Formats: sequence, C-alpha cells, structure tokens
Amino acid sequence: MKELYAEVIVDISSENLDRTFQYRIPEELADKVRVGSRVLIPFGKGNREIAGFVLELSASPGFDPQKTKSIISVLNDDSLVEQKLIKLAYWMKTRYGSTMNRALKTVLPVRKNIRAKQERTVRLLLPESEAEQKLEYYNGRKMVARARLLAELIDAGPIDYRLVTSKLNISSATIKALCEQKVIEVVSERMYRNTVKDTGRGGACTLNDAQRRIADDFIEDYRSAKRGTYLIHGVTGSGKTEVYMQMIEYVVSQNRQVIVLIPEIALTYQTVMRFYNRFGDRVSTLHSRLSDGERYDQFERAKKGEIDIMIGPRSALFTPFSDLGLIVIDEEHENTYKSDQMPRYHAREVAAELAGLHGASLVLGSATPSLESYSAAREGRYKLYTLNERAKSALLPAVNIVDLREELRSGNKSMLSAALAAAIDDRLAKKEQVMLFLNRRGMAGFVSCRSCGEVVKCPHCDVSLAKHKYGKLMCHYCGYEIRETGACARCGSRLIGAMGTMAGCEAAEEEVKKAFPYASVLRMDADTTKQKGDYEAILSAFANREADILVGTQMIVKGHDFPYVTLVGILAADMSLNANDYRAGERTFQLLVQAAGRAGRDRRPGEVIIQTYRPEHYAIAAAKTQDYVAFYEEETGYRRLLGYPPCGHMLAILIESRNGKECAGTAASLAEAVRNDIINGVFVIGPTPATISRIKDVYRFMIYAKSENEEALIRIKDTAEQSFDGMHTDGVRISFDLDPMNGY
Ligand code: ADP
Ligand code: ZN
Ligand code: ZN
Repeated sequence: MKELYAEVIVDISSENLDRTFQYRIPEELADKVRVGSRVLIPFGKGNREIAGFVLELSASPGFDPQKTKSIISVLNDDSLVEQKLIKLAYWMKTRYGSTMNRALKTVLPVRKNIRAKQERTVRLLLPESEAEQKLEYYNGRKMVARARLLAELIDAGPIDYRLVTSKLNISSATIKALCEQKVIEVVSERMYRNTVKDTGRGGACTLNDAQRRIADDFIEDYRSAKRGTYLIHGVTGSGKTEVYMQMIEYVVSQNRQVIVLIPEIALTYQTVMRFYNRFGDRVSTLHSRLSDGERYDQFERAKKGEIDIMIGPRSALFTPFSDLGLIVIDEEHENTYKSDQMPRYHAREVAAELAGLHGASLVLGSATPSLESYSAAREGRYKLYTLNERAKSALLPAVNIVDLREELRSGNKSMLSAALAAAIDDRLAKKEQVMLFLNRRGMAGFVSCRSCGEVVKCPHCDVSLAKHKYGKLMCHYCGYEIRETGACARCGSRLIGAMGTMAGCEAAEEEVKKAFPYASVLRMDADTTKQKGDYEAILSAFANREADILVGTQMIVKGHDFPYVTLVGILAADMSLNANDYRAGERTFQLLVQAAGRAGRDRRPGEVIIQTYRPEHYAIAAAKTQDYVAFYEEETGYRRLLGYPPCGHMLAILIESRNGKECAGTAASLAEAVRNDIINGVFVIGPTPATISRIKDVYRFMIYAKSENEEALIRIKDTAEQSFDGMHTDGVRISFDLDPMNGY
C-alpha cells in the first residue's frame, strides 16, 4: 500500500502550533518523505511557504482529498538523526502525556539565529621549566587558584576556556592577571585541538580482575551483535567509571558514538577531566547552565561528527549523533534523571527507547541501584554485573550507629552526640577533614504558638515558613520573607518560637562552630549556593583544605573525592524517613550509603557515624552493614504489598489553577470521566488537594491511578487528556506524571 498522505507539524521554531496538518505527498517525492523529514509546505489562506516536520504517514486521507494541499519539497535529506529524535519525541508524548510541541522542544535543539561562537583556549606562554618554577612559587605563596591552573596546563596542555572557569573554578580576573604577566595566553581560534598525552594521569589504568571480567563480557556481547541493558552494581569507589571508559573505548573504536549521563551535581571537574584525559577533544560536555546557543553549538559539533562522546545531565540524551552505539547512565538511581517538566520523562526509560532506535546498548551503574533497575536485573531483563570491593586499597568505611533517644536520656540535647563530638575532636587533632550531613533543610524549623498551636505559614503557599538567622522567616517555595514578630498573629501570645532542636544546616553550622571554636567550618546548602559558581567555590575550598569541617545537605554527598575526609557524620538519619512518600526508605538508604562513600576514599581508613532515633528501621540497619541486597529484599516486600513501583505502576494527574473553585470542579469532572472509562485492575484515588495544596497562589488538585498494568494507566492518561480538551476551561492546567518520584 502506498503512503500518499503525511501528517505535518509546522516547524517548531517558527510557530507555536500544536497540531498536525495533513498534506498530500506528490508522486516525485514519494520515496523521499519519511517520518521525521523536514518539508516545505503551503500554509494558511495565503499559502505562505513554511517548513514542517513529518510526524506520521498514512495511506488514506483524513478529510476531503480535493482540498488537501501538497508538500512542495523535502528540505534536507540528512534528517536521519532528526527522524529518530522525532520518533523519540512522539514516543515520549504518548507515554508521558504532553503536547507534541513540548515533546519536540525537549528533544530538538532550538534553532536560533546565533553567531558561531568563538571557542577560546588557555595555554602556557612560558617554557615548561620556567612554568615549573612559577608553579613552585605559587605553591609557596599559597596562591591555590594560580597553582591549580598552572599545574593543569603543565600536565594536560592547553585547556578549553570554559573548562578553566567552570570546572577548574578559576576566575576570569585570575586568568587576566596571568595573561598580563605573560604566564599564559588566551587564544581565540576555532576550538584549539587539545591533543591528549598517552600517559596522562587519567590515562587508562590496568583494570583489576573484577573490572576486567565485566568489560570483557560486555565487549564480547557487543562484538557478537548482542545489544541490551546492563546494570553495574558496584560499591562506591569500586572503579565503575574505569569500566565505563573501557566499554566506551571499544564502542568508539567501532566508529560509533557514546552518550554518558551523570547527575548534574557530579559533573565536576574531576570526572570530566578523566574523560578528557582519556579521549581528548573527541569529548564534549553539556550542563544545564549552558545557554540555548551554546547547547546548540555542542549539538552541531556532534552532528558534524567532530565528537564521539557527549557527557552531561539527562538532556544530553538528545545529542544528535548519527550512529549512537552506547548510552551510559552513572548513578542511575538519582532523582535528577526524572524531568520535572512536561513531558515528565525518566532518562532511563528514554535511553532504553533511544538505544532501541539506534541499535545501541545501555549501561547503568550505581552503588545503590533503583528498585526498578535491580528488579529488572533479577528478572533477567538486564544483565547484572557486581563489583564488591573498592578499586584502590581503600577499605569500605566502618559504620557506627548512635541512638539519639539514649543520647537524650543521658541529658545531651545538642545536635552532636558524645561519640560524634569525640570523633570530630580526634580528626581535628590529626588534621584530617570531617563532613557533616543533614538530609533536609529547615525541616522542623517552623515557628508555632505554644498557646494556641498556630503555625506561621506562607500567605501564597500551603507550607510553613522556616526560621532563619536574625529572626527571618522564609518560604522555601516562593522566597516570601518576613521578620519574626515575637507574638502570635492569632491569639497574641508571646510564647511563640521555633519548634524542635533540629533546625536547618544553618543551625547545625552554628552549633558546630560553638563546639569547635578553633575549627574552620564551611556550609553548603541551598542558601549558600544561590549564585552561579558558589557550589564549586565551596567544594574547591574544602578540597584545598581551607576548612576542616563541611556541613551540608545532600549536595555534599556526591561529586569530589576528598582524600583527607576520614569522618562522615549523619546528624539525623530519620528526617528523610518521615517524608510522606513511598520512596522515603529507598531515598534514606541511598543517601546514607552515598554519604558513607565519601569517607576514607584514599589511604586513610574512613569512619561513618549515623545518628538516628530509629536504629531498628531496615533502611538504617541495612545502611550500617552497607548491605544493598538486604535492603532490596525488605523494600520490595513492602512495595509489592502496596502495589507501588516497580511492583505496580502509578499515574499522578495534577490539576492547577489560580481559581480554586474551578480547579476543584475540573478535577472532579476529570475523576468522573476517568472512572467511567475504568479498565479492569485500575484503582482511582481522588480528586484530593495536593499535599501542598497551593504554590504561589496557584491551587493544586490531584488524581491518582494505580495498576499493575502500565498500558492501562497510559489509556487512563489519554482519557483524561481528551476529556480535559473537551472542557474548554481557561486558566486550568493539567499535567501527568507516570511513576512519580516526587510528592505533590
Ligand atoms: P566509581 O565510579 O565506582 O566510584 P572510580 O572509577 O571513580 O569508581 O574509581 C575510584 C578510584 O579508584 C579512582 O580514583 C580510580 O582512578 C581508581 N581506580 C579505579 N580502578 C582502578 C584500577 N584498576 N587500578 C587502580 N586504580 C583504580
Ligand atoms: Zn497563638
Ligand atoms: Zn510561599
């Protein structure tokens, strides 16, 4: 049967339309028009000539064939890459619920009229011997930034300017100063070719037996044209990254390309540099702070075949490689792989689909795999590889639990248990470093009245305000801020104050400073990392041993290797257990194991102290023994019992509006429509106000559907989408989240 008609969507960058139009395919274009082709079409009353993408082909007309216009021409024939991406967008739209337009915008780089950006490169002006002398001089004077840059230039040769400022964390002022002193120069030519030295620090190391077996097995599969999904379950520091690089090297040697996803937060200089040292200028990186233009540039380089490896956060999946051979997802359990905007896709699922389109393999790695992945491995859908030991001689840290209830009984009300305080003392004396980790900011830091129970809340959001320093109260959702008044707004009582001793990181920092006045303390949380570069600045200061103790939220758990950190303290392990969401146990276990992984990365042995009110909870008990499988067994039992993912599936439907009444009304009608369409084995809950029922004056209602059958939920989503479209409710928004990872 001949395909005579094409569903065309108007070029996404020129129009904001979200529907397809049917066009006839003229005889002479019949074998050129495919799904994903970019075509020129006559559009609108004036038959303006504009571009569009073909989304579907069909044999029969959708309406009067006499009135159907014809495609004028196919714009380019190199659309193979875009073709796959458009197919992927279509799959995402269908699975996750979103308009085709937004799915396309997620997947295709925005075409903008941008000047081709000049790449700048920093390189040494001094001969190497003089540079070495300079380096000694800087080191002697503790000019750490200059020393770091110089050492890097001596070692690795010229470096991309962006990398110097972002990853090496050297300010442009420093670069300028060094230029003026004729130590270095900045050259603006098109991308200086950074040739790699074969024997760089980060060159291939000899894999140990366990690593070797994994790499060999994967390569053997690849050689015999077997493609699939692999899960590497390897303890922190077991050398997963080295294994990925071995696999990547093989795939690249087959002239195919590779995408490596890492959580944004782990996209540190260290990690990226390992890849640069190994693969040279065939590597490129993306991060979320790139402008659209810069991102487009990187994508163009990929399209032209200038690079083989793209490293970045989840959006790096959409790199337009012509022959993708492998996707690696490091720390695959991370929340950041789930998009929080429509389409709310999970990078792991999209990667699997994309790998299928290209005939590529997918490799996932983690010390604490998601339940989804581990159960897939157990069921034989993924191939499981295990690394039980750290690659360097470093042993896994000793983990000790302190029961905070007993601490309280013995009269200690501080945030630091006696054991933790003693351990900190010991490390300070040894000039080693300490990380203290608090897994929720401001949690119990809300202010309430002891006379009437009134809690001070944000007037725009349904959340309590958190107490900060100097009598400031702040909303963590919209930034609303007031001063503490000292009296209850409802009853006037003066017995008003912050609840609980466990306040945020700020309070922890204060307490640590008081307990150890001679130590220097750094804090890293949302409040101290507001500006671009703050995050890197704190981490590099700590790495340079400018502080003894780093207090922080989950942000400090990942990223840098700190060889001098020998003690990790977890101040209140249960805080994340109390979150009202079914992943609380999993998240707690992951955080505890990852945090423990920060201790003793080098030769010095590490110790971890977990403070908790619930030492008997299985997530905490399993973290003590660092026993993933034990945790997995317990947790799956619980999920199976309640039908939560991965043992069942869930669809969250979010309805939002500034008009509370209309929001509730729409939600009720939608729930009814969904219930009328009910399929066997689907369980519908709601509508109910969301846990946070209002954010920035927008009301939020939820409908949840649960089922063992994913397809059934996708049908529920379609039903809800259709009946919503039929309602014509202005100012009400609907969105979907399949297997949500965050509460609403
Ligand atoms: P992971 O990704 O599992 O956390 P990495 O690949 O980062 O582990 O390895 C941890 C450390 O061990 C790194 O410093 C790495 O260079 C080193 N390493 C890994 N494999 C080996 C090996 N086979 N021989 C020596 N050092 C290794
Ligand atoms: Zn009161
Ligand atoms: Zn608010």
